[in-house]
Amino acid sequence: MIKIQNLNKFFGDKHILKNINLEINDGEVISLIGPSGSGKSTLIRCINYLEEPTSGSIYINGKNIATSGKEIDKIRQNIGMVFQHFHLFPHKTVLENITLAPILTGQLTKIEAEQKAIDLLKTMDLLDKKDVYPSSLSGGQKQRIAIARSLAMDPTVILFDEVTSALDPEMVGEVLNVMKELAKTGMTMVVVTHEMAFAKQVADRAIFMADGEIVEINRAVDLFEHPQNPRTKEFLSKVL
Ligand code: ADP
Ligand code: MG
Repeated sequence: MIKIQNLNKFFGDKHILKNINLEINDGEVISLIGPSGSGKSTLIRCINYLEEPTSGSIYINGKNIATSGKEIDKIRQNIGMVFQHFHLFPHKTVLENITLAPILTGQLTKIEAEQKAIDLLKTMDLLDKKDVYPSSLSGGQKQRIAIARSLAMDPTVILFDEVTSALDPEMVGEVLNVMKELAKTGMTMVVVTHEMAFAKQVADRAIFMADGEIVEINRAVDLFEHPQNPRTKEFLSKVL
């Protein structure tokens, strides 16, 4: 579903992503772990073209995102992204946050979008928050709304960038649970995370990145229990 070929990214003369090759299958959950500054965010931002690769190709469902021209917006609509700091629209209600993109893109009518938002809010147990503004929500609630907003576009893949890192510890679980349920539905997910239990248990495959390279990629359980590369071993010994 996603194919990354010889991807390189420079910021100025800094070589940030070094010849990344990766294929992600439909329905697969990938956890992406590695030290701070190793290029995890840059890699997933390249997947939806929030960052432009310096060289290499990224195919989404067979389409090269770089040469897709006018189609790029359409492709990006299929790629959800959830960030550490929620990025909800502060002056819109919860319901408006969720319905905005499907209405603006013409994917759904207002009535359809609202029905979909209500269904999503129900599954997240947040229906009672539909008319409030984000500022009145807890961090965990904000992040679940951000996930609902992303789902409202019916994405084929969702990219998660450290979505629990800014949360108070007691709210991490509720967000991880939503992500676990989502994984069970067959959603394709790429999850940058420091939650090692999640990375090991929920993901199909795990990737360890360091210094802009994919150092190791394996079935998640195997990468955690039998790391092959000394750098993976060293990293895991520090975080586990
Ligand atoms: P991670 O998400 O693994 O912590 P990042 O992808 O955020 O790593 O960053 C990788 C490297 O790229 C870091 O050295 C960071 O300072 C650098 N970097 C990230 N974004 C930019 C940018 N917009 N301009 C310059 N350097 C950047
Ligand atoms: Mg990052």
